[in-house]
Amino acid sequence: MKVLVINCGSSSIKYQLIHTEDKETLCKGLVERIGAVTSIIRQEWKGEKPVKKSLALDNHTIALKTVMELLVDADNDYLSSLDEIEAVGHRVVHGGETFKDSVLIDEDVEEAIQEAFDIAPLHNPPNLQGIRAAKEHLPNVPHVAVFDTAFHQTLPSKAYLYGIPNRLYRRYKIRRYGFHGTSHYYVSRKYYKLADIKKKGSKIITCHLGNGASITAIKDGESIDTSMGFTPLEGLVMGTRSGDIDPSILFYLIEKEELSLANVHALLNKHSGLLGLSGYAADMRDLIEEAEDGDKRSQEAIDVFCYRAKKYIGSYIASMNGVDAIIFTGGIGENSSLIRSKILSDMSSFGIEIDESKNNLSGEKPLISSEDSKVGVYVIPTNEELVIAIDAAKIAITSKQTPWA
Ligand code: ADP
Repeated sequence: MKVLVINCGSSSIKYQLIHTEDKETLCKGLVERIGAVTSIIRQEWKGEKPVKKSLALDNHTIALKTVMELLVDADNDYLSSLDEIEAVGHRVVHGGETFKDSVLIDEDVEEAIQEAFDIAPLHNPPNLQGIRAAKEHLPNVPHVAVFDTAFHQTLPSKAYLYGIPNRLYRRYKIRRYGFHGTSHYYVSRKYYKLADIKKKGSKIITCHLGNGASITAIKDGESIDTSMGFTPLEGLVMGTRSGDIDPSILFYLIEKEELSLANVHALLNKHSGLLGLSGYAADMRDLIEEAEDGDKRSQEAIDVFCYRAKKYIGSYIASMNGVDAIIFTGGIGENSSLIRSKILSDMSSFGIEIDESKNNLSGEKPLISSEDSKVGVYVIPTNEELVIAIDAAKIAITSKQTPWA
């Protein structure tokens, strides 16, 4: 089945056309700067050179219309008409406590996504805008929502409750939700296959380290704890997000620097993390280069990043009373042998040892731990879009078979 996967941000749309039986991406694209004077579309068909176009795209509906035109305008046999698209899968960031699995989007689902606007003001509004725009252009196929939070809905209350008055949870649903669920799910399932391991009885830790970063403890195949919380701000130090801090710092700063709520929000989400620590860059590649040239603050930023990740891994080993495997994914996790090595250094008392020669060649084989290591360490590239496409295809098939459900 050919499935279109759509991921809408506030001014961007990422999309992929995926053939689900072949697990193959036929086309991928990115629209950026929607609403600006000039928007940019980059699209790349399998085996072909990327094409880039600049034009004015006022909103998501217009942007998606252009995407649809581009998809059928190609000089290849991958898609001759939009009728060949049999389902659309939408990445939705926040499913609150309502969605434990992917769902066919109807009016009730749209309403529930809207109800979560309050707790996900940056993500859910553009996600819903994308859904509505895509439905306009492809009205006759099932649209399916796949939630970043769904995989973490198995967290027990001892992991998801904060130490604040319980009525705040009951009234406002303030709790840990966790994000990147689709990625943690995908790499864990890949690991079970690769290592030929059964879910039951397994204890693994998945580290998604990209611009956004989170670590998850997965026991018996289920997420039991994760580092992101009520929002994606909590946990690890990220590209521009602070991760965990003492909340009292905010009261102190509001007083000292007379910050507004918007200032505090921007400080923690946009000006902190690797960027804030280094004062130089949010991008790990740039920081590694700069640190190699002797820049002390870039080195410190890398050290804080790695130390925070190490602490989370240690705490999840305690939560599960052990770990069988640690899996790295995301731009940093997949590509930086240096960061993997730093995070897992000096953990031999936990039975964790990396083989540096395998680590440096990780693109070739996923297992990078030494033969003596009791814990397997793996590098597994994530593929969230494939999970979204497969879920959308499954739900599209079921909805055809049981249209009354
Ligand atoms: P996003 O969360 O935006 O999807 P990615 O998963 O693409 O981000 O990760 C982006 C991060 O990965 C950047 O910090 C980038 O520097 C880092 N990265 C990519 N390749 C490498 C590499 N070879 N070495 C170190 N960091 C890398």
